[in-house]
Amino acid sequence: SRGTSPVPPARQPRLTVLSGPSGVGKSTVVAHMRKAHPEVWLSVSCTTRKPRPGEQEGVQYFFVDDEQFDKLIANGELLEWAEFAGNRYGTPRQAVLDHLEAGVPVLLEIDLQGARQVRETMPEARLVFLAPPSWEELVRRLTGRGTESPEVIERRLQAARVELAAESEFDTTLVNTSVEDVARELVALLR
Ligand code: 5GP
Repeated sequence: SRGTSPVPPARQPRLTVLSGPSGVGKSTVVAHMRKAHPEVWLSVSCTTRKPRPGEQEGVQYFFVDDEQFDKLIANGELLEWAEFAGNRYGTPRQAVLDHLEAGVPVLLEIDLQGARQVRETMPEARLVFLAPPSWEELVRRLTGRGTESPEVIERRLQAARVELAAESEFDTTLVNTSVEDVARELVALLR
């Protein structure tokens, strides 16, 4: 009989944050997740950056202007936000909380500054560091775009050295050997 037996509390999935040095391939992993693992909800950030060719409003980002971004901050609507390469990026708070509450696994792909903020505001979140297979591979990726001056490249490599040191602040490291493998490992963590 159903009687008065208490309903067990729904188990809420943990928020999972994917971060790592720039150039390591985070957005490629997320693009693959979008196609191969639709059961995972990918948070859609707001950004003041202009859309790149092929990017769609509400898919990769919500594209907003500076004034709108100021309002999101002022109204406390962002779970975290950061400035990156001259643009601002932030995670809408309510959609993340709603999905978690509904039992849907949520993945955020954000920069290291954002990951640190999530650590503070949601200590139960799982922070996943995406690492390059090797330093040489990261150098190849950061210099391979081919258009930057030696000074710009040197600045990027210096930033990458600092970013790699952040690994120790994370709960888990996934090495980006292949997009498919990383996506599979992420899904396993999200279960
Ligand atoms: P891109 O302009 O190449 O799409 O992204 C630049 C950087 O911004 C990436 O490192 C990406 O992880 C980060 N990013 C994207 N959305 C957010 C966000 O909502 N918050 C933070 N802190 N970083 C984000």
